[in-house]
Amino acid sequence: MSEQESSLYEEALKPLKKAAAVLNLEPDIIEALSSPERILIVSIPIKMDDGKIRVFTGYRVQHNTARGPAKGGIRYHPGVCLDEVKSLAFWMSVKNGVVGVPYGGGKGGITCDPKEMSQGELERLTRGYAAAIAKFVGPDQDVPAPDVGTNAQIMGWFADEYYKIAGKYVPGVITAKPLGIGGSRGRGTATGRGAFFATLEAAKTFKIPLKGTRVSIQGYGNVARPIAKYLYELGCKIVAVSDSVGGAYNPEGMHPIKLADFKTKTRSVKGFPGSKEINTIDPITVDCDVLIPAALENQITEKNANDVKAKLIVEEANGPTTPEADKILYEKDVVIVPDVLANAGGVTVSYFEWVQNRMGYYWSDEEVDEKLKQVMTKAFKDVYQTAKQHQIETSFTMQPLQMDMRTAAYVTAVKKIVDAMQALGRV
Ligand code: GLU
Repeated sequence: MSEQESSLYEEALKPLKKAAAVLNLEPDIIEALSSPERILIVSIPIKMDDGKIRVFTGYRVQHNTARGPAKGGIRYHPGVCLDEVKSLAFWMSVKNGVVGVPYGGGKGGITCDPKEMSQGELERLTRGYAAAIAKFVGPDQDVPAPDVGTNAQIMGWFADEYYKIAGKYVPGVITAKPLGIGGSRGRGTATGRGAFFATLEAAKTFKIPLKGTRVSIQGYGNVARPIAKYLYELGCKIVAVSDSVGGAYNPEGMHPIKLADFKTKTRSVKGFPGSKEINTIDPITVDCDVLIPAALENQITEKNANDVKAKLIVEEANGPTTPEADKILYEKDVVIVPDVLANAGGVTVSYFEWVQNRMGYYWSDEEVDEKLKQVMTKAFKDVYQTAKQHQIETSFTMQPLQMDMRTAAYVTAVKKIVDAMQALGRV
């Protein structure tokens, strides 16, 4: 494992250590929380379209199952490695605790470039992966879902392969399936919708007006597009967006649907009519009021945190801000709605899907949306109350909060996880 790989999980554990200090947790409990329960690494040989065999590496990490089955997405990306999947699985345990869905945390991934693969290759890869981990997943064991580079169709293939192996129809094995095979209404836009509700609460709480507000978004995929649309409808201006190819900046604002259509046609937002070309990373530091990192981890670092102009950051990506950047931003009075809260709408509607699958009874768009709003609003309020109540020792006290929102979210979640581990007699 390279030095860079080994450090991501260590960095991911830093907010846990801060929360553990607030909660006065013993070192053995911190060690238990830092140790994933199960790590699977599988080799998946696939016949490519040119007839050659290629072997892909797949992972599934079940971080903690004290509060319920492991739950979390599957990522297809060239950067997938064990350390990343471990970090993502850990973040899922925390996220599921923050919103209170009855799950532990898990995550999977395959090191591959889905953009370079045909549909047939992706289907064979997905079926191979499902077969390789089938014994360890199930509605009461571990429930995957999409993440970066995966979508509803991939969930459908995974489900089908699992049904064949299990010999029965068990739709609760995976979530964010297509609607016709037990997917939930509202799941496709759930992460963006949940982040939107969190943004509304943050704006209200921290008195940030949203009308005319300039929003900058890094990433323009499945999770970024819905929030861009909802904020635009509210009167916000989308001044910057980017993707892995490049970015577009226009201080007058850009239309979110036209941006999405342009990206679908050309594969990037770069070159969007009327915009100035910027780089993938530039939305982090452009002049704006609200920043939404919605791509990958480690985008806001000690190198660029000082140049962030936004007053509010809503983390749609997992792990976009490093602990060093967190400290700089806190000192600058920037409020962060952390990933484990801001992007929890996805897993929340996944939970609704799993419940509907188990009941065999399906809810309307309105019902899903109302329930999601309730969960996100309550989670935000819980975290905010924790941030206000707990005194934490810091060298900087400029913020109105006694504690940053990330630490508060971890305190909220870690308490629930430790309570469950103790009730089970595991610690
Ligand atoms: N991959 C998403 C996340 O990071 C969704 C997980 C799920 O729905 O289980 O939260």
